[in-house]
Amino acid sequence: MTENGVRDLIIIGGGPAGYTAALYAARANLEPVVIEGFQWGGQLMITSDVENYPGYAEGVLGPEMMKDFRRQAERFGAEFVSDDVTRVDFSEQPFRIWVGEEEYRSEAVIIATGADARKLGLASEQRLQARGVSYCAVCDAAFFREKEIVVVGGGDSAMEEAIFLTKFADKVTLVHRREEFRASQIMEDRARANDKIEFVTNSIVEEVLGENSVTGVTIRDVNTDETTELPADGLFVAIGHDPNTKLFVGQLELDDAGYIVTKPGSTETSVEGVFAGGDVVDHTYRQAVTAAGMGCMTALDAERWLAAREGHLATALAAPRE
Ligand code: NAP
Repeated sequence: MTENGVRDLIIIGGGPAGYTAALYAARANLEPVVIEGFQWGGQLMITSDVENYPGYAEGVLGPEMMKDFRRQAERFGAEFVSDDVTRVDFSEQPFRIWVGEEEYRSEAVIIATGADARKLGLASEQRLQARGVSYCAVCDAAFFREKEIVVVGGGDSAMEEAIFLTKFADKVTLVHRREEFRASQIMEDRARANDKIEFVTNSIVEEVLGENSVTGVTIRDVNTDETTELPADGLFVAIGHDPNTKLFVGQLELDDAGYIVTKPGSTETSVEGVFAGGDVVDHTYRQAVTAAGMGCMTALDAERWLAAREGHLATALAAPRE
């Protein structure tokens, strides 16, 4: 930290991307502060077994993995603020970040606030999360070998997840609230050509059934109001994601879906000195390992940017006055 209380680097977000950025930045002596959020850890805190993060040969629980990430960054001196950022001002240097009344100032900022899977909003869905209710087929499909699954959604994600799940499950029922699908024709055709996938349209999931794990869902036909129970061992909700970027509206360039726009081949945002990585910029991969990789990239970019800036400042200060 410099004498006037301005930090070199503040990282906003405490998931795989934020903690990896913190690890790299701390090892580069940038003394980062991670404003990790009240509910730190990101989406992995609502995941049970993680079997696809390299290095954990026996698998690991999502929350345990996030504690490991955090501890590793802490070991090299990263500091943590377990609260939510309430406002930012990136209009001038140093950048300003508020956590309630508390103001932080920093030369560089890394944003790794992630994205959240959209939820149906049912109490039973929340109760059975990670007990058969999942938001990520790539993560959890292997736990549903020879089982019956319901997928909700009508976009490309729902088609992709339904097709992927048929590699494991015996039967996948895709439930969509309308007759027409939002998915591209090619994805819909592929799903329709798959014998294991059954389509139920004009229907919404009203309740997830089961005490300790999912045993089925109740669906309601939106035209007839008729309700039916579908037996199932798992419910995959694939109705889209929302990036956590409300704080940055009007401060950074966002795309139509609200994700932060970064320059091709870099983690630089539309504001020089502000970098972003992980699910907050990534529409496509959304994996812990890709988020961690992008977190590393943000720290390397921020470190280089700070070093170049320091060089410029030193040159400017050393230059003789006219
Ligand atoms: P999306 O295109 O926004 O589709 C979301 C789907 O969920 C829509 O069919 C929507 O129904 C439904 N939905 C939303 N809220 C719901 C609710 N509360 N209850 C029931 N259904 C609800 O999201 P996405 O499928 O995740 O795709 C996001 C973007 O990634 C798209 O641009 C997509 O093309 C792209 N993507 C591409 C691929 C690929 O090409 N391989 C794979 C995955 C994603 P309505 O249709 O009625 O609104």
